[in-house]
Amino acid sequence: MKKIRGIGASRGIAIGKLVITGEQGYTVEYTEAEDSRKELERFEDARKKAEKDLDQVYLEAVRRVGKESSMIFQLHIMMLQDQDFYEAIRDSIIKRHSKAEYAVWKVAQQFAAVFSSMEDEYMRGRAADVADISRRLLRYLDPHFPKDFEESLQDREEPCILAVENVVPSMIMQLDSKKVSAIVSREGSRSSHSAILARILGIPAVVAVGPSFSVFKQEENVVLDGSTGWIFLEPDEETLCRFRRQRDSFLLHLEQLQELRGTKAITKSNRYVEIYASITRPGDMEEVLENDGDGVGLYRTEYYFMNTKDFPTEEEQYHHYASLLQELNGKPAVIRTLDVGTDRQLPYMNMMEEDNPSMGFRAMRFSLDMPHILVTQMKALLRASSHGDLRVLLPMITTVQEVKQAKEYWRQAKEALRREGVPFDENTPLGIMIETPAAALTAAALAKEVDYFSIGTSDLTQFVTAADRNNPKVAYLYDFHHPAVLKLISMVGDAAKEAGIGLNISGEAAGDITLTEFFLQCGASSLTVAPHAVLELRRTVQQLD
Ligand code: PEP
Ligand code: MG
Repeated sequence: MKKIRGIGASRGIAIGKLVITGEQGYTVEYTEAEDSRKELERFEDARKKAEKDLDQVYLEAVRRVGKESSMIFQLHIMMLQDQDFYEAIRDSIIKRHSKAEYAVWKVAQQFAAVFSSMEDEYMRGRAADVADISRRLLRYLDPHFPKDFEESLQDREEPCILAVENVVPSMIMQLDSKKVSAIVSREGSRSSHSAILARILGIPAVVAVGPSFSVFKQEENVVLDGSTGWIFLEPDEETLCRFRRQRDSFLLHLEQLQELRGTKAITKSNRYVEIYASITRPGDMEEVLENDGDGVGLYRTEYYFMNTKDFPTEEEQYHHYASLLQELNGKPAVIRTLDVGTDRQLPYMNMMEEDNPSMGFRAMRFSLDMPHILVTQMKALLRASSHGDLRVLLPMITTVQEVKQAKEYWRQAKEALRREGVPFDENTPLGIMIETPAAALTAAALAKEVDYFSIGTSDLTQFVTAADRNNPKVAYLYDFHHPAVLKLISMVGDAAKEAGIGLNISGEAAGDITLTEFFLQCGASSLTVAPHAVLELRRTVQQLD
């Protein structure tokens, strides 16, 4: 038995035969074209056909995973129409007299290489998208293009584990669960669109196995664990038994979780905790409702601002927040004011380069420096408050002074609405995120100023351990189980209790079920996790004494 490890990108266990498919070693040699105009026409024709295919894939994806998660295929259509991509292919055909298939293959390689070399994990993930669209074009241009994975699986009767160079999003959408039980790839990242889609569709996946990919043999027996990233080749009987048991209990567990829809997270001693979901865009609401979240515990509005051409107006924001509240139909929504800066940049703001962006000019620091943006957002939020149960949250607080300043803008926003005769809920709760050690250590003073606390455990952990939350080299230090982090959380809990205000736990640690009991002991009244983690957390609470 051999063991190799990649990155666990979508949890679940699969046992079966390995089928290696795809374009390993596929290259296109340069041969001079006889008629460049004809080659350009062939390319244009392939582009139209690929676009038509993508329209179909998009519609199918909307049906299966909802509109928001399907946007990737709209992005592919845009990439196909991208001027730089088009010009580069056209130049190769016209100036170098390349055949259309060579031009597409070469340009896609160059674009993918640029994406792959980028530092940002999200941008690196775009290499798979370029591969996806070039594959679509090459299928129409090159009669020798390798068989589609669907073709190679045509006669299979048992589900297999599919091994590919790179998982592309459309592949995930086209997988037939009767034929494929899991997927493993040489390349890839956890944050690629393919990995996101695999998680939504519940397809176990391990990505980025790297050079170990070459040890794979066609049709060998394999056990794949999508949580840990381990793959066992030709597993022995004991390993097989162990993973069969794990797989069966995992499937049972998923089935049982569904039965928790409509129930509440109440401990055996009758303590009720609300389990909220966090979202980054209103489209995530579908997942919140599907997983029966008790409400939205954190809407990160910076993602909304990152997708507009300019700062959205008060009117635009009002409609945006109001429709989110209406969708929740009475369930609460915690909407956070802008947390821009760090990796969340606004395309229309020329923000200065910083040495330490996560400790720099971001979140509340940015908003207090741009009060007109803050007051506009506050006014829009307050107006939306008449449409549901809204709570407003201020990110990354460091001092009492900042809260006092923010409250003054909150007062001004209310005053302006009163003057304008616009209705709003005067009692809309205003809370703060406890994400800096300074805020945690002065929580008692801060608690006197606000209606509730929400601990941002991800930022708090990175600041307490002095370990960048996005840097894999220091990931071993970025640990929310560190006693220093837990001690601060407990202190914040005491301060909230003393002041009689609500305490929410959000960020990565909130979903760690080994900490649920501890959070309850700290006095948490709610926990905020990703939508897909809601039911599991609800079950954990129900099992606590
Ligand atoms: C956190 O820091 O834990 C948090 C919830 O905020 P964000 O992930 O948006 O930084
Ligand atoms: Mg944060």
